[in-house]
Amino acid sequence: MIIIILGPQASGKDTQGLKLQKEFNIPLIPVGDLLRKLPEDHPEYKNVRKAMNAGELVDYAVTAKVIKDRLSLPDCANGYILDGWGRIIEQFDFFDPDVDLAIYLNIPRAESLRRISGRRICEPTGEIVNILTMTPEEIEACPGPLVQREDDKEEAVNRRLDIFEKETKPVIEWYRNQGKLIEVDGTKDPEGVFAEIMAKIKQ
Ligand code: AMP
Repeated sequence: MIIIILGPQASGKDTQGLKLQKEFNIPLIPVGDLLRKLPEDHPEYKNVRKAMNAGELVDYAVTAKVIKDRLSLPDCANGYILDGWGRIIEQFDFFDPDVDLAIYLNIPRAESLRRISGRRICEPTGEIVNILTMTPEEIEACPGPLVQREDDKEEAVNRRLDIFEKETKPVIEWYRNQGKLIEVDGTKDPEGVFAEIMAKIKQ
């Protein structure tokens, strides 16, 4: 089974992707992570970092190549869950996964901005946390400084949300027209969102 997850920033794509990964036993492939973890000696490293730090999309051909290399690994043989591809319809000219199911996590723009404003990376461990949902004790217990990702700063986030509205919404409608789309309310708690996804898959 090939699943694609769509939704604005901080709509819970990663959280739901991990739950789906467990449920269907196929790997979650988050495109943003693949690009972020690109080794420094990769020929496109500098261009990729520059685009990401500015909150812009990375070159489609480069991104498609990074994804295809990852999907060629044996763990994807029975399918996968793609998170972050198809941000604009033209990307399918570079790589078009033959998806069985597209899941759209719908949250309002203000909720995206609110959630991202609290997102931090724990510098020593690389763990992503959210200071909006942590107690002062949990924040205090972190082994090192909590830093904001360059592309989580407000200006970059606004640019990414603009891209979503203008470029990704047509992708969602494209899947809807093919009868492959499941739309869920992403403002619920993670378990509630997952329950809605599973109920709609079974419908
Ligand atoms: P994310 O972690 O999904 O928010 O993605 C972080 C950044 O990675 C984006 O702002 C883009 O710069 C880049 N990126 C992620 N997915 C894509 C994609 N499908 N095409 C081009 N750039 C991407």
